[in-house]
Amino acid sequence: MAVCLAALACSACGDRASAPNTGPGTSGGASTAGAATASGGSAISSAGMSSNGGGGMSAVAGNGGKAATDGGTGGAPSVAGSAAAGVGGSASAGAGGSGGASGSGGASGSGGVGGSGGVGGADAGKIVLFDGQDLSLWKVHGADGPAPWNVSDGAFTVVPGSGDIETRQAFGDIQLHVEFWIPSTPVSNAEQDRGNSGVYLQGRYEVQVLDSYMHPLDGANDCGAIYELKNADVNASLPPENWQTYEITFYSARWSGTTKTANAKISVIWNGQQAQKDIEVPAPTKLGDPEAAGDAPLRLQDHNHAVRYRNVWARKL
Ligand code: MG
Repeated sequence: MAVCLAALACSACGDRASAPNTGPGTSGGASTAGAATASGGSAISSAGMSSNGGGGMSAVAGNGGKAATDGGTGGAPSVAGSAAAGVGGSASAGAGGSGGASGSGGASGSGGVGGSGGVGGADAGKIVLFDGQDLSLWKVHGADGPAPWNVSDGAFTVVPGSGDIETRQAFGDIQLHVEFWIPSTPVSNAEQDRGNSGVYLQGRYEVQVLDSYMHPLDGANDCGAIYELKNADVNASLPPENWQTYEITFYSARWSGTTKTANAKISVIWNGQQAQKDIEVPAPTKLGDPEAAGDAPLRLQDHNHAVRYRNVWARKL
């Protein structure tokens, strides 16, 4: 039977122990699509670098102009258009890339003329939950006090023993981008005592954060696991002291009054690899907040390790 070694010092920890083991940045630059001319409408999309792997975007110009839509995760602002007035035209710009730096794209329009541009972009609807400066959008879990974790160098760090923190804003269905940095710990530590933290969706369902580098995934408690429900499908761990990324898609449970009619559902892309896909979560994971109808905050776990986070943002789905 596994025992969480950290539990003695961290009664709030939901993790159980088992055997021992072990692009950040601002979303990209600006993107401009469009600039179609009256003679054929060319649209050019040049997405800026996005270190979190997003940045792709697609743009469509023509027939009146228009549009750049988000093709990536964490891409940059995008502005389409500014084309000269035109007629007809069905110019389309190429699709953005994913997982890389520059968005690709920029195809010429065919037979047409670009129109006036529209505005769209990867930042549409993006809710920045940490801007690198302060934790004013966060508070202690379950209370109203300020989040007691440290902020420095554009990241924030768990202060061991200070408790979990959660967003002041409540969320339902979201796309969530989180970057995390796990400190190095002695290999002799128990598995769950190696850079442990976690992302609790709606404060209820934990996607585990742990140093699982070069460690077999089992027990549904390693990095990328939906805690005690399902291991990640792939071990995408980077060595400790590297920035890693979760791109999470979360659909909250559905309710009819106080009766749950559908379970919450989680997908996780971990460092660009699909780790969880549409996994139903029938109940809160260990030490998750109780289920109920309605939105709830996003929570990050203090499990007595100085795990760092940065570039946390959400987009409502
Ligand atoms: Mg944890």
